[in-house]
Amino acid sequence: MATNSGVKIVLTASATEMSDFFNNPFMAFSAGFGLGPIPVGFARKTLYPPVERYPDGRAKYAPYGLRKVEAMLLESGFVESDVAVVHPVDLDVFVGSDTKVVGISSMDPTGMGYVSKTYSSIIGGGEPMNAVEFQKLVRHPSIKRFKPKIIVGGFGSWQLERKQMTDKYGVDCVLMGGRPDPIVEVFKKAVNGEVLPRIVHADESLRTWDYGTMPLVKHAGIHGAVEISKGCGRNCQFCTPTMQNKVDVPLDKIMTEVATTTREGSDHITLVTEDLFLYGSKNKTFIPNKEAVVNLVKSVAEYPGVKSIQASHMSLAPIVNNPQMIKELAEILIERSWYSFGKKAIITAETGIETGSSRLMKKYMGGKMLPYKPAQWQEIVADAFGILNDNDWYPLATLIVGLPDEKEEDVLATLELMDRLKGYNAFYVPLFFVPLENCVLMNKKGAEIDSLSRARWDFFIRCWEYNIKIWKPTFLENRISNPLLFKFVNNVFIPCFAGVMGLYYGWTRGEQLKQAFWTLGMPQATVRAQ
Ligand code: SF4
Repeated sequence: MATNSGVKIVLTASATEMSDFFNNPFMAFSAGFGLGPIPVGFARKTLYPPVERYPDGRAKYAPYGLRKVEAMLLESGFVESDVAVVHPVDLDVFVGSDTKVVGISSMDPTGMGYVSKTYSSIIGGGEPMNAVEFQKLVRHPSIKRFKPKIIVGGFGSWQLERKQMTDKYGVDCVLMGGRPDPIVEVFKKAVNGEVLPRIVHADESLRTWDYGTMPLVKHAGIHGAVEISKGCGRNCQFCTPTMQNKVDVPLDKIMTEVATTTREGSDHITLVTEDLFLYGSKNKTFIPNKEAVVNLVKSVAEYPGVKSIQASHMSLAPIVNNPQMIKELAEILIERSWYSFGKKAIITAETGIETGSSRLMKKYMGGKMLPYKPAQWQEIVADAFGILNDNDWYPLATLIVGLPDEKEEDVLATLELMDRLKGYNAFYVPLFFVPLENCVLMNKKGAEIDSLSRARWDFFIRCWEYNIKIWKPTFLENRISNPLLFKFVNNVFIPCFAGVMGLYYGWTRGEQLKQAFWTLGMPQATVRAQ
């Protein structure tokens, strides 16, 4: 229980990260959009409500990375009363004169992530919600008043240094990476009142990584997150997990975290991984180990209290390599489905298509399609989507525009691939290339809106045209039961709204956006779900 003088170590994250987005992990993408005229308070109520809290104010669920830091501290001499994991709205209860350090986890503190960069520059609306909420957090009155040390870690902490915001936000130390020893050391220094290093590199150099040193979470993560593997090893040059060889978390450790998570009230489990299908594979050419993957998913599905399971990421080549594995997994997962399409239960996970250009695949992502060749990439993507859809598996696929040295013919190749995917059900997220810290391409220039050629705009519009065609009926049917109202919204309201938005964006941001809204608003883009 917090006292008026606060808790020694307070762990938190911005309001966009301390939310389950109404139990919808994919909606968290929307925090990369600008708020426009919408007040922050309204967005917190309608888009990213606070996680549940215990009666004493501690968060019931928190980002998985924050839960790992909490576990590291609890296993190195601190006790539960020393450490509180809280939502930012409760900081005034937990930060006081005894508080030595506030540890913040952030995925995207300045809005430099893929989604933020892409959609805030296309749609406008001001700073992305992620950045707005991070500023609110570091400028919280309790932090200003009691001046604890501020340590920022998490996947996006590098952005503070890249954008030179560390000092401006009053951050004492930027932590990069997730290795326990350096993290515990810097928190101990903060508690002892010592001067903190400005940057701590706690990178997981997985060539020497021993997962045995990573403590298991003591409390539940948001969306029931449980890590099953770390790193990837396919070496895509725009990506950071590429710097890490893959390490699988042993099944008994996974099940211990599943037990902790369900005990604390979560009936959902998110399997956190760069690639579900490579769990247990030791093969250098990335041939999946079907028995290990199916055994893992079966074990989690059979655990008492688990009602739904979602894998965070998957790759496409193992699907083509072992379609039987997809079938067997689908038979288990469809009974533990998290999403639906119309009235039908579906399975999903995020995957990277990135580009349809075999030239760029070979140049930057030669390992992504192993055991196959870069020249086969389009075929692999199309075949994998077919196998997935046949098993009620509808992927969320990201694509990147503006990779260094991308030529017009590369974009045309991606458009050609999109044509091949026309008949499949998926959700497409086209993104600008962003040079993330610690990736091979980190010193290259990111893509910008003014670099969008006609073909690149066509590609963006094509992705969203498909999304609207595939998902609009489900979206509307889940909300509007009256058939007349459905017709009015679909045939009149949405086209008029898109028309007005097109005029506005055409006037403020250029002809291309006007055309995009007008194309996407057309009712003929809608095909009712079968
Ligand atoms: S396959 Fe995915 S996780 Fe692995 S290196 Fe490539 S982009 Fe990164």
